[in-house]
Amino acid sequence: MTIILFGPPGCGKGTQSELIAEKYKLKHISTGDILRAEMEMGTELGLSAKKYVNEGKLVPDDVIIGMLMKAIKSIDANLNGVLLDGFPRTTAQAEALEEKLTSSNKQTNVLIDLRVNDKELISRMILRGKATGRVDDNPETIKKRLQVYAEQTYPVKSFYQKLNKYVSIDGLGKIDDIFGKICIEIEKAI
Ligand code: ADP
Repeated sequence: MTIILFGPPGCGKGTQSELIAEKYKLKHISTGDILRAEMEMGTELGLSAKKYVNEGKLVPDDVIIGMLMKAIKSIDANLNGVLLDGFPRTTAQAEALEEKLTSSNKQTNVLIDLRVNDKELISRMILRGKATGRVDDNPETIKKRLQVYAEQTYPVKSFYQKLNKYVSIDGLGKIDDIFGKICIEIEKAI
């Protein structure tokens, strides 16, 4: 099973991903979390990613695709598959993922887009920046991330629409209510 949780920065992917991964026994793969861990440890990958992440830009596709392929390789036998959070973020990443899945006779079950307006996204990320000290959650970098999302990530939507794998959900409201709507879509897709 391969489920993609999609949407702009600050839309709640991280929160919902944890709930989904637990309920459906999936490995939660967050490219943002992996990058932050690598940066914290000061690895070569972390060091090369740092300037992109801190400026709100995307890390180059070859780096991210390599990192993702490694993460999907090892899945515990007791799990049902993967939940991707923050990947794919470009059409090239989507193509690489689907090619990889096709080579083992698989395909993404569904991409779920969490829709949230920019005003709400900005206020959520400002709050998160204050609470967690996440360096890219500051007004200037947030603006850049939203711009990068619109230009480079949004096209991933039409890629999955063409495959008939795209659904969207209103990301405003109570966490549990949104989770309920996500579960309905996952169950239709598996
Ligand atoms: P958010 O969804 O709130 O922007 P993430 O934690 O998913 O946060 O990502 C943080 C940063 O990590 C991004 O702004 C980008 O620099 C980098 N990043 C994460 N995933 C990818 C990806 N798939 N491709 C390129 N860069 C990525």
